[in-house]
Amino acid sequence: IPLLALILSHLAIGVTGLTGIGIFGFKLNQAYDRIRRQAVIDALTGIPNRRSFTETILKEMSRSQRDNRPLALIISDIDHFKLYNDVYGHIVGDQCLRRIARNIDSALKRPGDYCARYGGEEFVIILPDTSLEGARIVAEHIRKSVEELEIVHEKSPPSYRVSVSLGVAVADPNLKVSLEDLIKQADEALYLAKANGRNRVEVF
Ligand code: GH3
Ligand code: MG
Ligand code: MG
Repeated sequence: IPLLALILSHLAIGVTGLTGIGIFGFKLNQAYDRIRRQAVIDALTGIPNRRSFTETILKEMSRSQRDNRPLALIISDIDHFKLYNDVYGHIVGDQCLRRIARNIDSALKRPGDYCARYGGEEFVIILPDTSLEGARIVAEHIRKSVEELEIVHEKSPPSYRVSVSLGVAVADPNLKVSLEDLIKQADEALYLAKANGRNRVEVF
């Protein structure tokens, strides 16, 4: 009997120890997952951050060259957003950023389409296997869907609503453009959209 009791008590201690290790390992895994997520997700808007964007577009660019398919990049920038903050305050500004982010995210339809917060009030959209014409249509769809949110912005003529300007560029797989050049091209188109009156889409 004492021997049996000894064995049973050892077994109990063993099972308790293993359970403890199991629970601890599970908690540790959860913590790792959370940290990994935080590293790629923008805290304010909940969409991917710039670091995730750089990783994703580099992968997509090599894939587009491998498959010999075009890759489109859109840069979107909120119009007169500094004035929006000045008039309504930063907290309302942050709310606006969250709404625009959600809006852009849900405007994307294909499974491979991807958007991220590039910085401040700028968002980037990657459209794999998409031509300039296709990307222009998506950009116009985003522009219109932001307009239709009808967020009042009393310092932003002519619509007096929050709007975005968008620049579109496409990487032709035969031309082997660098990431820097592709971003520069989309940025140039965006600059043109601003210069031509904002709340509009321009392509490079
Ligand atoms: P434009 O139409 O030429 O783009 O004018 P803009 O005022 O939008 O451009 P500018 O680059 O001068 O200002 C960007 C502003 O975006 C500056 C800052 O007030 C605002 N902003 C950037 N990041 C954040 C943020 O995280 N939260 C809030 N609330 N505002 C931000
Ligand atoms: Mg900007
Ligand atoms: Mg802006």
